[in-house]
Amino acid sequence: MTMPSFCLIVEDDPFQCKLLTHQLQQLDVPQVETCSSAEELLKMIDTGRHVNLLILDINLPGMDGIEVLRHLADRNYAGELLLVSGEDESMLTTAARLARAHGLKILGQVSKPVSPKNLSNLLNSQCSSLEPKFRVSPKFYTPEEVAKAIADKELTGFYQPKVKVDDRKVVGAEYLVRWQHPEDGLVLPDQFVFAAEAGGIISELTTAIFADALEQLKRWQAKGLNLKVAVNVSMSDLCTHSFADQVFEMCEKRGVKAEDLVLEVTESRLEHNITNALEVLGRLRLRHFRLSIDDFGTGHSSLARLRDLPFDELKIDRSFTHRAWEDPRRLAIYESSLDMARRLGMQVVAEGVEDEEDWQFLQDNDCHMAQGYYISCPLPPEEFTRWMQSWHAS
Ligand code: C2E
Ligand code: CA
Ligand code: CA
Repeated sequence: MTMPSFCLIVEDDPFQCKLLTHQLQQLDVPQVETCSSAEELLKMIDTGRHVNLLILDINLPGMDGIEVLRHLADRNYAGELLLVSGEDESMLTTAARLARAHGLKILGQVSKPVSPKNLSNLLNSQCSSLEPKFRVSPKFYTPEEVAKAIADKELTGFYQPKVKVDDRKVVGAEYLVRWQHPEDGLVLPDQFVFAAEAGGIISELTTAIFADALEQLKRWQAKGLNLKVAVNVSMSDLCTHSFADQVFEMCEKRGVKAEDLVLEVTESRLEHNITNALEVLGRLRLRHFRLSIDDFGTGHSSLARLRDLPFDELKIDRSFTHRAWEDPRRLAIYESSLDMARRLGMQVVAEGVEDEEDWQFLQDNDCHMAQGYYISCPLPPEEFTRWMQSWHAS
């Protein structure tokens, strides 16, 4: 069963908000937030906030829940919708019908007060369809479409925080590329990075991504924020001899120091062309760029890669982190990865920290950094700085 990763409750009654939040947390929904008006909700959507499940009270002050449906449809809201009301059932049925007519995805409708059992049934019946990767748009794109998106500047970066486990300090942000498609809405990297690689335009894609990430890093630095920005590097990039020089040049042009940039390389993609990759990564490391081995444990030759390449950071894949505390097999792999990284003098990032129990588990075993929906989902840059303030305040 997969729970929606980010759930937003739109409800003006603070007691109902608390009750629903509690019930969702009991159901293991990793991130729940609330807002009290339709206007606030639309503002969040407009900033690019990626909501998976919206629980909407249709009786709101100001703009009501019926009117907001049209605004959601205008904004191509692609998440699921659960309608709640204290009115009679027929009002809910009308609202649900209208939402469907607008092309919105209705998870269900419930009358107040919402019982935990009701909520659980609704979420469990539908949740696999809420997995964000498959929910937003299952479409794949051609290299020509991706090339046009790059030229039209439709690509944008979302940032997911990397936080220190011991003092919760935000130390970095991973750039995760998104395509703001004019018709299809927000498109995830798994739907187009492969096309760029296969179509021989990965270099154009990576250049656009680096430019965007480096500009953002400069903006954060100008605000006094000391963050390392991590960028994902494709295996095709590492097959290009000139890649290291391109990175040096892009950073020099913007006055970005090598130590502030982390290059994340998926080790399962490091299996071919190792000689080229060794040269490129070696040159980058020589200039003090930080290298990170991503999704550690999922490839076939993890250990050989660690022997041959000078990585600074190891990211333990989420399939070994999430719920490792209750699964002896995951735990064994997690602990040995952590131990090995420590012996090799590398920093460790645990990926896929999705709930309080995962977070607690990390506190008990000296992992350096954490990343995952429990801390925050990937956010647009303005949201990221706002999120940072609330994270440090809490
Ligand atoms: P990745 O580098 O392993 O990135 C982490 C992925 O896990 C992201 O998906 C992120 O949204 C998701 N994630 C983060 N926290 C959690 C969690 O707690 N639970 C779960 N289940 N998932 C979590 P996203 O953004 O869809 O990216 C997918 C992959 O696409 C990335 O995996 C990376 O390999 C690739 N990618 C993303 N951005 C770029 C890019 O700019 N360039 C290249 N070449 N590849 C990219
Ligand atoms: Ca990564
Ligand atoms: Ca990863």
